[in-house]
Amino acid sequence: ISISDPIEEHRICVCVRKRPLNRHELQKKECDVVTVPSKCVLMVHEPKQKVDLTKYLETQTFRFDFSFDETSSNEMVYRFTARPLVETIFEGGKATCFAYGQTGSGKTHTMGGDFSGRTQNASKGIYAFASQDVFLLLNQPRYRSQNLEVYVTFFEIYNGKVFDLLNKKAKLRVLEDGKQQVQVVGLQEKPVGCAEDVIKMITIGSACRTSGHTFANASSSRSHACFQIILRRGGQMIGKFSLVDLAGNERGADTSSADRQTRMEGAEINKSLLALKECIRALGQNKSHTPFRESKLTQVLRDSFIGANSRTCMIAMISPGMSSCEYTLNTLRYADRLQTA
Ligand code: ADP
Ligand code: MG
Repeated sequence: ISISDPIEEHRICVCVRKRPLNRHELQKKECDVVTVPSKCVLMVHEPKQKVDLTKYLETQTFRFDFSFDETSSNEMVYRFTARPLVETIFEGGKATCFAYGQTGSGKTHTMGGDFSGRTQNASKGIYAFASQDVFLLLNQPRYRSQNLEVYVTFFEIYNGKVFDLLNKKAKLRVLEDGKQQVQVVGLQEKPVGCAEDVIKMITIGSACRTSGHTFANASSSRSHACFQIILRRGGQMIGKFSLVDLAGNERGADTSSADRQTRMEGAEINKSLLALKECIRALGQNKSHTPFRESKLTQVLRDSFIGANSRTCMIAMISPGMSSCEYTLNTLRYADRLQTA
């Protein structure tokens, strides 16, 4: 492999996306403390004291592969993050794309889009755009003759347990065999023949994620959702693209809550996000040891953190408001740590 091999060069891509202030924040006259001055830089104007005086701001500057400001569309974000990874799965590789950030920062909007029918126009997210491009590539002459089949899975990891979002939240077991292969037993792989088929699955799985119990919305911020596009030939896996909408990172801080359940969930989230960081860093540094066993999330994604042809992209989502400043900085520091100097 030559030094300039783009795959080696870009095993890890770290990006940041700032969402616009929402109606609620505008009504409260919330101050926008995040600026994107150029395509790789993002600045946070941190209040020096806990006073609402924007004059006393200390600016912190972060550099990433890309930073997207509040005017960028899902399609634009997709084009520079997940799209460069799509071809990887046709070449026998594993690709992953993560959305990381505080609850309400835009993870689900970016990854899943919105097909709920609540908004007037259905909007595509990275799941849908990536699937579209998989079928586009599949129909190109160089891949058409390969008899590739496409499948999708959609599951949720909640408090260290795996639930199938394409099968009524059936609880699934994770097994590791003697050859260190990790298997999610019974996870449904749905065959899909076109991008529209995939959108149906995204709609079913997303509705399943936010239904079933009273605290459905709260629980979606406490769970990781993983949507996978799998290529097979004659049953054998050729490549896999995992697109992960992570639990809200502020939930990882719930480790001192008075409520035992909340505390345990917080500890589990904290553990999984730390393990994820270490696994991505290990991939970026080509380390031989990957601490994937530390959490269910990293265990399930094990094969995506190893192997010569594994590539990953992290999108850190940012809420622009002053009141989110502390979590915004936490998110940026986490993302910054993934970039290996
Ligand atoms: P998360 O999944 O991180 O908790 P969501 O994706 O649910 O956050 O976003 C919270 C709200 O903000 C949703 O109503 C969503 O539609 C909106 N939103 C998020 N990102 C954007 C964006 N870039 N542009 C417009 N609205 C956004
Ligand atoms: Mg969400």
